[in-house]
Amino acid sequence: MGKHLHWFRKDLRLADNPALSRAAKGDVLPVYLFDPSELAAMGAASKVWLFHSLHALNQSLDGQLRLLSGPSQTALPEFVAQNEITTVTWTRRYDPAGIEMDQALKATLQGNGVEVHSLNGSLLWEPWDAKKPDGTPYRVFTPFYKRGCQAAAPPRAPLPAPKLDLVKKPHDDLALLDQLLPDRDWHVDMMDGWNPGEAGARIALEAFIDGPLDGYKSDRDVPAANATSRLSPHLHFGEISPNQIWHAIAKQPTTHDTAHFKSELAWREFSYHLLYRHPDLDHKNLNDKFDAFPWRDDDAALQRWQRGQTGIPIVDAGMRELWQTGYMHNRVRMIVASFLIKNLLIHWREGLAWFHDTLVDADPANNAASWQWVAGSGADAAPYFRIFNPVTQARKFDAEATYITTYVPELAALPVKHRHAPWEAPAEIRKALQGYPEPLVDLKDSRARALAAFSSLP
Ligand SMILES: Cc1cc2nc3c(=O)[nH]c(=O)nc-3n(C[C@H](O)[C@H](O)[C@H](O)COP(=O)(O)OP(=O)(O)OC[C@H]3O[C@@H](n4cnc5c(N)ncnc54)[C@H](O)[C@@H]3O)c2cc1C
Repeated sequence: MGKHLHWFRKDLRLADNPALSRAAKGDVLPVYLFDPSELAAMGAASKVWLFHSLHALNQSLDGQLRLLSGPSQTALPEFVAQNEITTVTWTRRYDPAGIEMDQALKATLQGNGVEVHSLNGSLLWEPWDAKKPDGTPYRVFTPFYKRGCQAAAPPRAPLPAPKLDLVKKPHDDLALLDQLLPDRDWHVDMMDGWNPGEAGARIALEAFIDGPLDGYKSDRDVPAANATSRLSPHLHFGEISPNQIWHAIAKQPTTHDTAHFKSELAWREFSYHLLYRHPDLDHKNLNDKFDAFPWRDDDAALQRWQRGQTGIPIVDAGMRELWQTGYMHNRVRMIVASFLIKNLLIHWREGLAWFHDTLVDADPANNAASWQWVAGSGADAAPYFRIFNPVTQARKFDAEATYITTYVPELAALPVKHRHAPWEAPAEIRKALQGYPEPLVDLKDSRARALAAFSSLP
């Protein structure tokens, strides 16, 4: 018994939250803390999502979510002392800054005689458990998943939402949430079609199981098909746990689709495994051969990529989808990343930073592992010399140019067959292009330049 504080971070839900269930053994004070260093590091789109998600969480806590502000190392122990809290609970983090903060805070709180319980609520398997027989960490996905995960104990079954005896808060502090919103209102349209919060996450999972799960393995690569779960921001903010998703899928008849979807959840586990083992994953090449890579500094090209003005339709469609919706389809993420890194020779860290700022699902593990994967500098990465041709990719996965035309309406005036590579159309037809730019680079030449740069590595 006693007063228990649950510190919400990336676990913004009540159900299947082991640390919250542990807190529920006493009277509960649910807390979210705005740490200035964490706020400064958060992307703009993530902040907008967090704004909505915290409002939703507060509602499901009958308005009793307490918002604190200040460096966690001092603000939390002070609050704990002032409120005579005996136990603090939280869901573990696995990013280097989070681990460091939590270790220091745990020591302070325990030194003050407070019990601390940190539990796993965001991964199916602890990242340190999966080890090769020789004790070293996995660097290749398939053995990681097969031997490191599937051969281990199955993911724990989800817990129900606990009954909470909430300690009433003395005053309304919701105005603190407003600091998450930008001054200009670009975010309003971006959030169209998203439903942040635990209930929204559950609805998204149910809709996926009732719909696109059937056919997921083949259709997931088609950006216009709406054939994936779009659970990534919900998972990132912990509005739903991977265990809830895993077990909901496991209840369905086993098919290639269910197996494939589970393996995608395992890619997320693999990313966290890599981040845990390589805390500098977001800025240091896993393969240090790439440290000598002759990257180009080209701000003008970077800006055209960011704004979806490269003149390569599938790349521009992806970058505009990102800007408009805070999301980009996975196949297109790979295409735009490959274009930046290989056709433009711009460092993968620039792409990672832009995604970090603009994705609603920006995630320290998935983002860093994926950028290094595309660059070829990461673990189990696509080889550098495998350079996507964005036109071939677009013709294959967006044959009718439906996705392209949604985000690059300038191309709608062209016959479908010219929308993937408008510069190849006869001059007469190109007149209809309404200001759409010429390609930033020649795809063939820039491919050859990338291969030469790669060959120059020691
Ligand atoms: C350059 C690049 C950057 C990326 N950055 C991020 C990021 O910041 N945050 C993020 O969550 N994902 C990132 N991804 C991975 C992937 O694109 C997204 O997870 C996926 O598109 C999310 O859509 P969904 O939820 O509909 O996926 P679904 O296909 O429905 O998959 C279900 C879940 O599995 C996980 N998953 C799927 N694919 C991957 C993958 N390749 N790697 C790791 N986990 C995966 C995600 O948690 C996803 O929500 C990135 C991929 C690339 C190529």
